[in-house]
Amino acid sequence: MHFKQKSSDAGNTVDNYRHRGLRVKLANELRRKGIHDEKVLRAISIIPRHFMLDKAFEEWAYKDMAFPIEANQTISMPYTVALQSQLLEVKRGEKILEIGTGSGYQAAILHALGAKVYTIERQRLLFERTNKLFEMMNLHAIRVLYGDGFTGAARFAPFDKIVVTAGSATFPDNLFDQLKIGGIMVIPLGRQDQKMMRYFKITDKSKRLEDYGSCAFVPMLAGKV
Ligand code: SAH
Repeated sequence: MHFKQKSSDAGNTVDNYRHRGLRVKLANELRRKGIHDEKVLRAISIIPRHFMLDKAFEEWAYKDMAFPIEANQTISMPYTVALQSQLLEVKRGEKILEIGTGSGYQAAILHALGAKVYTIERQRLLFERTNKLFEMMNLHAIRVLYGDGFTGAARFAPFDKIVVTAGSATFPDNLFDQLKIGGIMVIPLGRQDQKMMRYFKITDKSKRLEDYGSCAFVPMLAGKV
């Protein structure tokens, strides 16, 4: 994949060998931290994370750190994005719904893994900004929706996988209804102490869950702003 932005006022426009080198280093760091899905690591080495940050913060783009973006939100740590992507066990052509578009980084990684990505953002400012960024990056296949992720995207359901990238205090049943039988939902769950959870939808009435330990996301909030 080759990324070249047509033009941009605030963002980064160039992806060069130095950035690519930093991405390979980042992928190696994530491998050392326990990410073992080579397809995920390859996606990390492809997607220009510095496009998602303001030019002034370019140096921070390939450190394994979360970073503030607009509207008081954050771009998740690369490790967290890699972990959520790994837990989703993405296969080419799968339909995946992401809640919390934010910077667009997680959505771009899922796209690089061959998924058909739908992503919902509740903040108009971020929705518009990321939509524009995807246009500039030629990522037209990613469907960015403006709305409340708690209600999901019924008109595109059912999904093979769902990933929530904001911390939900309660289990979002409506969203789980939009998952296929046999599907996977990865979600940070909890109020103060969030846990990364993976749910397998066994039947319409039963699910199996796995706990992947503590994490810290911005809260999943109802309604649009
Ligand atoms: N996936 C993003 C992470 C962004 S942080 C990335 O890769 O950068 C979480 C995002 O979830 C924020 O942008 C926040 O506005 C959004 N969010 C929170 N609650 C939401 C909801 N109910 N529906 C949709 N988006 C939500």
